[in-house]
Amino acid sequence: MGKIRVLDEETINHIAAGEVVERAASVVKELVENAVDAKAKKIIIDLSADTSAVKRISITDDGVGLSADDAVLAFRQHATSKISKPDDLAEIVTLGFRGEALASIAAVSKVTFTSKERGSSAPEAVQVVIHGGELIRQTFVGAPDGTTIIVEDLFYNTPARRKFQRSVSTELSHIYDMVERIALAHRDVAFVLLYQGKERFRTYGTGSYPDAVAAVFGTTFARDLLPVEKTGGIANVHGWVSKPGCNMRPTPTRFYLTINGRQITSKSLQWAVREGYGTLLPKGMYPAAFLDITLDPREVDVNVHPTKREVRLSRERDVGSVVRDAVYTALHDDEIFSAYLSVLAEPKQQKLFDEDKKEEIAEKRAEEKVYAPAVEHVPSPKRSLHEAVMSYLTPSAPAEPVRSAHRQTDIQLRRTETGTEEKTGVEVPEVLGQIGETYIACRNAKGELVIVDQHAAHERVMYDQLLKKVEEKKASQELLAPVTLTLSRAESARMPELSEILSQAGYVIEPFGQDVWAVRSVPVISSTLGDVKVIHEIIAETAGITEKNPERVLDRVVKTVACRAVVKGNTPLTKNQMERLLKQLSETDSPYTCPHGRPTALVFPKEKLASMFLRT
Ligand code: ADP
Ligand code: MG
Repeated sequence: MGKIRVLDEETINHIAAGEVVERAASVVKELVENAVDAKAKKIIIDLSADTSAVKRISITDDGVGLSADDAVLAFRQHATSKISKPDDLAEIVTLGFRGEALASIAAVSKVTFTSKERGSSAPEAVQVVIHGGELIRQTFVGAPDGTTIIVEDLFYNTPARRKFQRSVSTELSHIYDMVERIALAHRDVAFVLLYQGKERFRTYGTGSYPDAVAAVFGTTFARDLLPVEKTGGIANVHGWVSKPGCNMRPTPTRFYLTINGRQITSKSLQWAVREGYGTLLPKGMYPAAFLDITLDPREVDVNVHPTKREVRLSRERDVGSVVRDAVYTALHDDEIFSAYLSVLAEPKQQKLFDEDKKEEIAEKRAEEKVYAPAVEHVPSPKRSLHEAVMSYLTPSAPAEPVRSAHRQTDIQLRRTETGTEEKTGVEVPEVLGQIGETYIACRNAKGELVIVDQHAAHERVMYDQLLKKVEEKKASQELLAPVTLTLSRAESARMPELSEILSQAGYVIEPFGQDVWAVRSVPVISSTLGDVKVIHEIIAETAGITEKNPERVLDRVVKTVACRAVVKGNTPLTKNQMERLLKQLSETDSPYTCPHGRPTALVFPKEKLASMFLRT
């Protein structure tokens, strides 16, 4: 007898389940997508969990439903109503088509599937119960049109997979994220998500993008978006992106892309969106983007990934250019463009071009000279857009930028001043002056030229001090009045785990209501770290960390905290401030790099200069 045999359906289902049903969130994704494909107008997701796992997932829809015969067939591997021949694969308009989700899910859980076909004359709904792929019974029950599927004891018969499941809060966070993504892609469907019987999330199916975004992220967030609309050409793009300077994140957590209604991830399209921003985007930051891309289904190959999260585009570059241009146009819409300028353009300067007013202006300017700050600060017209955007980023951009920058710097430097006259063996170089409002030129004891990056330097000082406080468990200061924080469902679900780590860095954050958290204490170095924006950034920053090593997460939190509370680049400093900063840097243990590993100082010995001047 030969060694090779054709596998039975049960084994095939288990293999498929390995790909399709990775975790509870994959079950929710497949079932919700089935409900969307069944043209449901309302989808209710009801979850319950015990301390170890999500125990029960129930999804109810008011879609077209299935007949009794189809209900049994639907659980066979490769059984689908969505395609029937190879050619159909080229023009898929439904979310599903592989016909393996129900079979796979039923193979590794206990499923109760109840369905009543819309418009059928059958008096009752069919109910099918399947445990571990085995049909337990088929009966008839009273039920409204549509489908309810209940999945219990996921992975009860595959202990290896069960072991790989993360904590309930992590799984929930994935589920919320998934449902939010699908709800944002299908705005004409109303979604309700319940957890332990309580409503956690709801959209209204109005079809409007801003409504859906507001339901997921809140109205304040939705207000800071700009519409993107581009039709014609090879792709249509429709959606919303962040206003420059608003809702920026260090990670692409708020990218919501769909292609022909299918929510997908695509690095190259993310890149295209960022290219559309060009210099309007701070380095390393990502805007929020909610974009629907529609193109000829024949241009899209959806059959490349078992969970269909990725697609292949035959003209990816061209689609990328369309997206980039659409975003660019949205950001440079005339009206918005003038809004940027109004932030910056001083009417006085504009009047200079008005001949009649010339004298009056000259007088005014003479008057202003008296009050002019110590350092001239004339924005060049070329930089104005950049500066206008920067002033969005620092909301309290003052009228006299330099003086107020100095005041701000004083506050920041005071946070890290130890007041001791410690001798560290590292000498403090002599300040020569500031370059580009970002670098400190100085001369060390050996007479060498040293250039210090003011932000990197202060960041190092802050980071070292903060770490010490964390070790001594003195990192926290209580706020006079707690600040409340509204998080997205996904963020909120991570909080029970994250708040423990945050507390080591000095944050005391407690539940305050549904998705609302109260910040009671913040890192001792600065109460500005209680700023809602900063906390959001920190949560987003740590969301990207997949491993669960709390020390690494803590380190990331401390780095982010340090980065937020220190002197920035592009900030004018006085000589005294530069001296103080250099002294602080010389007192730290490892003054040579910032916590991210960038150098804090570059040294140019005489020989180096000589070779640069081709003297040798
Ligand atoms: P696919 O979605 O790829 O076709 P599935 O295994 O997810 O495969 O579902 C198999 C079939 O069961 C679908 O093609 C559809 O006809 C039917 N079905 C699944 N869920 C529903 C539902 N909620 N309402 C109506 N029909 C459904
Ligand atoms: Mg499906």
